[in-house]
Amino acid sequence: MYPLADIQRQFPILQVSGQAKRLVYLDTAASAQKPQVVIDAMSQFYQREYANVHRGVYQLSERATALFENVRDEVARFLNAGHRQEIVFTRGTTEAINLVASSFGALSVRAGDDIVITTMEHHSNIVSWQMLCERTGANLKVIRLLPNGQLDLEHYKSLLTPNTKLVAIIHLSNVLGIINPIADIVKIAHAQQIPVLVDGAQAVPRISVDVKALDCDFYVFSAHKLYGPTGLGVLYAKQPWLERLPPYQGGGDMIRQVTFAKTEYNVPPYKFEAGTPPIAEVIGLGAALQFMRGIGMAQIHQHEAELTRYAVERLTALPFVTVYGDCAHKLGLASFTVDNIHPHDIGTILDDEGIAVRAGHHCAMPLMDHYGVAAMVRASFGVYTSLADIDALIQGLHRVREIFGD
Ligand code: PMP
Repeated sequence: MYPLADIQRQFPILQVSGQAKRLVYLDTAASAQKPQVVIDAMSQFYQREYANVHRGVYQLSERATALFENVRDEVARFLNAGHRQEIVFTRGTTEAINLVASSFGALSVRAGDDIVITTMEHHSNIVSWQMLCERTGANLKVIRLLPNGQLDLEHYKSLLTPNTKLVAIIHLSNVLGIINPIADIVKIAHAQQIPVLVDGAQAVPRISVDVKALDCDFYVFSAHKLYGPTGLGVLYAKQPWLERLPPYQGGGDMIRQVTFAKTEYNVPPYKFEAGTPPIAEVIGLGAALQFMRGIGMAQIHQHEAELTRYAVERLTALPFVTVYGDCAHKLGLASFTVDNIHPHDIGTILDDEGIAVRAGHHCAMPLMDHYGVAAMVRASFGVYTSLADIDALIQGLHRVREIFGD
């Protein structure tokens, strides 16, 4: 039995009383709510354990450094990375992708080269590559979708040429909920010595990720979607890449020796972590990972699968609703439109009912264009989401229709 009530009790925001309506939070894909253990870990660190890391010779700083570096070990275990040095802390998924676009771009991408992405990418996995292409004269190639929203793998294979320098692909679509066959995609790219970056922002909160099994070269995610704090992300990169890539930013901590004539860089991962890192946030991520381990990734996956099945079943039963993407293979979220009613109006009316959903282009304008819509409504789920939350959404949609007239 999934301990839903016990999990919900650990989220203070779900306990706030005195409001007219219970909060039905269906926007976890935008950012997850925080359990008490994450809030406590960060506040305890600030109250009793705070100091900068990697610098002090005093005990407080040494302890802060140990707490901080322990989380690197935890993240390595969480992803099943081979070495702790393969874990670089960044400001988020977006910065991690920008880091690779900048450093890998400088190392490997020249005019006439290709970067391959997909139609279902988040803007952060589009724009960073477009900027690289503009800088270098390389081209962006885009894998098409099949009518059910899955990737067209035949088209993918046809795009790979000796000019392809990188494949950058979303693991779990933040709009369609579709999980892409990453291991197969990597195998196909590696057969031609092409490295693969995976945007795991929506996957890590929902499925057990094993970077060794996927064999990807780069894997990125954000802490705030994983029940941890904002302002922190992770770049996993295979060790040889981190050795070869030039640094992303210059500053303190990423150096070994500085003279005005020349700077010698620190070893990975520190070479990529210039300046004071988000220390308390890293501590918070450690608490979030422990929290998730406490529930179990298999249980979380199963819970989200059950919620998603139920949501798709109830949404598709409404004749005035269109759900996007392969309905049989979705996890963690469902995006939809309602006939003749703008998603923003739907979001506003649902908000009056205490239901928080996302309405807009979901940072995936090219995917909106693909479906010929300007915006969609998205309901997304987390460890605390209940079937009753989905019932409330369905009831809210009936209310939306009443207000707008059938
Ligand atoms: N990729 C995906 C799939 C996402 O869902 C998001 C967040 N919406 C991002 C990248 C960007 O993450 P962040 O804003 O935390 O950098």
